[in-house]
Amino acid sequence: MRYLDLVRGPAARFRDKSAVVGNGRRLSFAELHDRVGRLGTVLRGLGVKPGDRVALLAANELEYLEIQAACLRFGFALVPVNVRLTEHELRFILSDCTPTLLVVGRDEEERAAPLAAETGIPRMLGLGDPGAIPSYDTALAAAAPDEGGGPGDPGLPATILYTSGTTGSPKGAVIDRLGFTARVLVNAVELGARPDDVHQASLPMFHIAAFLSYAYTAVGGTVVMLPEFKPALALRTMERERVTSTVLVPTTIAMLLDSPAAAGADLSALRLMIYGGSAIEPGPLRRAMERLGCDFHQQYGMTETGGQTILRPADHDPGDAERLASAGTEAVGLEVGIVDGDDVPVPRGEVGEIVCRGPSVMVGYWNRPEATAEALRGGWMHTGDLGYRDDRGCLHITDRRNDMIITGGENVYPREVEAALADHPGISELAVVGTPDPRWGQVVTAVLVGPAPPDGELSDWARERLAGFKVPRRWVRVDTLPRNVTGKVLKHRLRSDLSRTED
Ligand code: AMP
Ligand code: MG
Ligand code: MG
Repeated sequence: MRYLDLVRGPAARFRDKSAVVGNGRRLSFAELHDRVGRLGTVLRGLGVKPGDRVALLAANELEYLEIQAACLRFGFALVPVNVRLTEHELRFILSDCTPTLLVVGRDEEERAAPLAAETGIPRMLGLGDPGAIPSYDTALAAAAPDEGGGPGDPGLPATILYTSGTTGSPKGAVIDRLGFTARVLVNAVELGARPDDVHQASLPMFHIAAFLSYAYTAVGGTVVMLPEFKPALALRTMERERVTSTVLVPTTIAMLLDSPAAAGADLSALRLMIYGGSAIEPGPLRRAMERLGCDFHQQYGMTETGGQTILRPADHDPGDAERLASAGTEAVGLEVGIVDGDDVPVPRGEVGEIVCRGPSVMVGYWNRPEATAEALRGGWMHTGDLGYRDDRGCLHITDRRNDMIITGGENVYPREVEAALADHPGISELAVVGTPDPRWGQVVTAVLVGPAPPDGELSDWARERLAGFKVPRRWVRVDTLPRNVTGKVLKHRLRSDLSRTED
């Protein structure tokens, strides 16, 4: 076996210690190990073979960890799917990765069955009460644990994480067992994860943030699943479980601290607040550091790479605004470069595209040889982000080449929103950009030329076709869009115009 088994080692060392908490239940490492073995039997019995995909459409449920651990151990690729996507978006992803089995979360049963039928998925298991979908619990209870494991090959895919991009349609980033192992170990080292840690998974497990949870599992720590981010629920759970570390994005850190429940909450066990998605403005960051009195740790990275640079606790010097605004320096085992349009490294201080290589980088996009060759050209993952390195070697992210919008920690690709809106018969010309917003970081803003249908009608139209977080919150009408000589909309111009004027 030439990859890390998430559960086998810790189960031998920490038998009765809590491994995972969720859905009002708690599993010890011994129980988790036993269930992973049973799940191997169940999945094999359903005809899942090494290299096959197992899709999981669920919020942060207790079973998330054991399903990923079983896929890793037995050689299946877990495809965790974002529950916030619309049926249209889910249909695309499920048709693209052709899973043998779809595991369905407690709140997803109704829409899952027709989706599986349409996309030709032969088998389903449901995490909820036994009903129309065969019950996961019943299958697990009836199975004897498979004490062995699957093939040892470190090159088998462990997970495929779907991410949108410039083309608008999602692409599956394939992380093989080697990459999975590297991500888990890099995180464990960088976070200083310990067996007495209790990590709250406050971001969805269908996001790369899941690798933070897996790092704690690998060292014998406890993972607490937060089913959804609600400030009062997050605070209550942190208090009850004596959570020592969690992960949020700038918007949800602010929501947590602004919540009325924050005043009386006992967060004295909290040692580490991890954040990513963007830097936090130095002012709010200092206030959060003061209020929580714990270490802060920022990761910059993407689905395709894992965490590539890190602003560590020692870098969070409240007096050092320049460093606080940066994304820190390379994570252990990763190399980061900054290159120009010809892939030639630029001198220090100059802006270029951020590229990254190392064992945690994806092996490629599922079924997309051209997109893979383009993204990984020269052996470096081209992030599409622009940035520079300062005198001290810290990376500063200046822009996202893809015009990607991050709103409340969710990524939105303008092309996808533009395509959905452009299909409306009343719209001839439009552009979608992110504009600054004190609460969400950015909000999705649709800029329409000339007379157009009422905004309410357009919101309804968008809501039918796009996940809620992609639906524009701000609608602006203009006479013309700024364009360059080749007719391309100048999004930089549009963004800076819109940040100055309120409509
Ligand atoms: P995703 O693949 O969904 O994780 O999105 C990754 C993208 O989020 C990156 O390519 C960046 O554009 C942005 N991002 C992630 N972390 C940071 C950070 N710490 N600072 C600035 N931008 C970030
Ligand atoms: Mg992405
Ligand atoms: Mg993100």
